[in-house]
Amino acid sequence: MSKTPITVAYGDGIGPEIMNAVLKILDAAGAELEIDEIMIGEKLYLKGVENGIDPSAWDLLRKTKIFLKAPITTPRGGGYKSLNVTVRKAFGLYANVRPCISYRPFIRTKHPDMDVVIIRENEEDLYSGIEHRQTDQVYQCLKLFSRPGCEKIIRYAFEYAMEYNRKKVSCFTKDNIMKITDGLFHKVFNEIAAEYPEIETDSWIVDIGSARLADTPERFDVIVTPNLYGDIISDIAAQITGSVGLAGSSNIGEHLAMFEAIHGSAPDIAGKNIANPSGLLLAAVMMLVHIHQVEIAAKVHNAWLRTIEEGFHTADIYEQGISKRRVGTSEFADAVIAHLGETPHELREAHYYFPKKLTGTHKQKPKDEKILVGVDVFIDWDKGLPDDIGKMLDEISTDQLKLKVITNRGIKVYPEGLPETFCTDHWRCRFWSGSWQKVEKDEIVKLLNKINAAGFDFIKTENLYTFNGEIGFSEVHG
Ligand code: NAD
Repeated sequence: MSKTPITVAYGDGIGPEIMNAVLKILDAAGAELEIDEIMIGEKLYLKGVENGIDPSAWDLLRKTKIFLKAPITTPRGGGYKSLNVTVRKAFGLYANVRPCISYRPFIRTKHPDMDVVIIRENEEDLYSGIEHRQTDQVYQCLKLFSRPGCEKIIRYAFEYAMEYNRKKVSCFTKDNIMKITDGLFHKVFNEIAAEYPEIETDSWIVDIGSARLADTPERFDVIVTPNLYGDIISDIAAQITGSVGLAGSSNIGEHLAMFEAIHGSAPDIAGKNIANPSGLLLAAVMMLVHIHQVEIAAKVHNAWLRTIEEGFHTADIYEQGISKRRVGTSEFADAVIAHLGETPHELREAHYYFPKKLTGTHKQKPKDEKILVGVDVFIDWDKGLPDDIGKMLDEISTDQLKLKVITNRGIKVYPEGLPETFCTDHWRCRFWSGSWQKVEKDEIVKLLNKINAAGFDFIKTENLYTFNGEIGFSEVHG
């Protein structure tokens, strides 16, 4: 077998210890890998590289297309960009796949039958990194969803379920509140679900869905969810299997795939040879499947399962009465190596076959007809009550635009707000033509000139559009 080139990064904290353990196991198992190393993480951040990755690393990643990555430490404080988010977005790694499985009776867990795969959208949502301070009091972060982004991740989840013989895909969103962004995700889920009648589906509001996941995870199989919810629930799901140190993940894109443990660099236990390398090892198993070294993948996975059954446990999963030996990181690796060639006696044996390349495709659709029908003007103002700003803005209009409503943090305050509503210095002032009829863009420019001339500090505008006659913005109620 020819060797597959891969890029490896040892990371920070426990990263080097767990990466050494994993590479030793892969080598002993006969994995055919040609390994190149790149520098990432804290050392680079502290040298002033703001995204924590050496510029020369991009070429290597582009060449090998496979990245096995240990966790890194992102220094706290401003000015540092998350390396993980940068790599995921720069290489279009849209799907984050996180299997969370219980290993009872060998690892203590309240959930013996848990076997859930969380498929998390990886590029969009609040991770766009577009944040602003707009007034003295108010800060914002933009939550961006795209139709292609939703289609890609949801189709990937269904393709994954088909390929890995999973029975059900559940959708987690908060579309009762975020009707346009999360609403799009849910709508696309329903559309794509209809293409896979053999897969059972259900949909959950993320809060109650997460509560049920933490309580009765056996009711779930595959969960597909936007970026932020996926980030949070996959850590919870991994932790309730027994330890956050047990779960590996893959980050899949068209051109590159990255494999990592789901946990961080655990600085509290770094350098002590006590970290559990299992998360990174199981990520490496996913990598071996991805590069079609399926027999080695099964050999490593089964040796690991057997080691867990034999009770060689690192401190995070060590439990008197269940575990037989508390081992350090390197002893655990040696134990896995000693069990290479064996299969588990009670836990389910791992079998892998050449995987189909899963593609989260999206369909081109004809563009909707987009018509400008109004504008939200955001104003920084702290000189009085809602009625004061409302009456002043009532005086400002153009041929086509006049004030419809003012909200403060999304609550209607003019006309006819409630006196109890707490107001900040951030006012969203909605202008329209009197109905949702087409307005010219020049009218917005005229309106802003008038608002400016009246001495208001407008901080941003958001154009209001209809698409094929459907309103493309949240309406103001109350
Ligand atoms: P963490 O996951 O590093 O640690 C949380 C807790 O779990 C700690 O008590 C730690 O000791 C324990 N733990 C984690 N992995 C373990 C393992 N393999 N074996 C045994 N115990 C383990 O989360 P954190 O403390 O919030 O973050 C530490 C650093 O990691 C931060 O700088 C954070 O930004 C970074 N981080 C990196 C990644 C990544 O590189 N993918 C992911 C998450 C956090």
